[in-house]
Amino acid sequence: MHTITKKTVRRAVRTIRENGYIVRIIDKNYATVEGGRLKFRVGVKRLLGAGDANPKTAKNRVPTKGLSLFPHRGIGFGNVCPFAKNCVATCLAHQGQGSVPSVYGARVAKTVLYHLAKEWFLLKLHRELDSFRRSRPANEIVGVRLNMFSDIPWEEHGIIDAHPGISYYDYSKDPDRFGMIRPNYWVTFSHDGLNTEASLRVLRAGGNVSVVWHTAAADLLARFGTSAACGKAAHRQLLPKKWNGFDVIDGGETDWRWEDQRGVVVGLRLLAKDYKSRNRAVASRFSPAVDTSLPILGE
Ligand code: SF4
Repeated sequence: MHTITKKTVRRAVRTIRENGYIVRIIDKNYATVEGGRLKFRVGVKRLLGAGDANPKTAKNRVPTKGLSLFPHRGIGFGNVCPFAKNCVATCLAHQGQGSVPSVYGARVAKTVLYHLAKEWFLLKLHRELDSFRRSRPANEIVGVRLNMFSDIPWEEHGIIDAHPGISYYDYSKDPDRFGMIRPNYWVTFSHDGLNTEASLRVLRAGGNVSVVWHTAAADLLARFGTSAACGKAAHRQLLPKKWNGFDVIDGGETDWRWEDQRGVVVGLRLLAKDYKSRNRAVASRFSPAVDTSLPILGE
C-alpha cells in the first residue's frame, strides 16, 4: 500500500463508483481506492502482508502471511464479520497500529476491493498465494491466515482447495465453522463472552475455542506490585488452568494454531491499547476475569 502522488496516477482499465467509493483497476496487480471513509486515495499493490510485520503472526516459527481487511461493517457497506456481536468495539483491528492512517487506509481499501472488485481481488489473491508458496522450499510448511480482522469463509471462494501446499488457519465466530474445515485449513472458534453455549458445543465436538481473559487490577497489584494492564504490561496477565472443565493452553506463545492439542481452550490475554478500551471489553463481558482463587496456568 502506498499513498498516491500525481506521478503514480495511471490510466484505469476499469472504474467502479459505488457506495461513495471510487475504485480504479489499473492492471491485474494494482488498483486505487478513494472516497467513502478514506481521507486520501490509496494504492493497493499487495493483499498479503508479511507475517513478521504483524504482532499476531510475528511469533510464528512457520513462515506466515496474513490478509488484513477492515472488520465488520466498518467501511460503510457490506459485512466481513457476519457473526460479530459483542466483539466489534473491542476488535484488535482498533488496537496497536490500527489507527495509523496508512494502516487504516490499506485495510479499508482492500475491503472495498473485496466487495466491489471481487473477481480482480480473488485472482490477485491466488497469484500472491502461488508466489508465496513458490518462494519457499517445497518441503517447508508455510502458513496463511486470511482472516486477520474478518470472518470470511474462504473455502467457499475456492481459495483453500486451490493451494493444498499452504496450511491455512483462522479464528471464527461462526458456530458451524470450526476444526478441520479442509485438510489444509484449521479454524479455532472464538468466544466473545456471550456465546458460551456454542463454545462448549465446539469443545465437546473436539474443536478448539479461544477465550480472551483479563486480570483484575487488584490481582495484578497483589502479584506484581503494579496494576498496569495496558500496552506491554498486558502481556503479564494470567490465564486459568481450566475453563468449564476443559484444559487451557497459552495461546500467546505463538499464533500458529496448527500444533495446538485438540479439544482445548486457547487462552489469550486482553491486549488493550488504553484503559478506555480495556474497560469496554470488561464491561461488555467480552473478556472474563481470571479467578485467581483457582489454579493458574503455569503455576
Ligand atoms: S469477528 Fe473478529 S475480526 Fe470481526 S469484529 Fe469480531 S473480533 Fe473483530
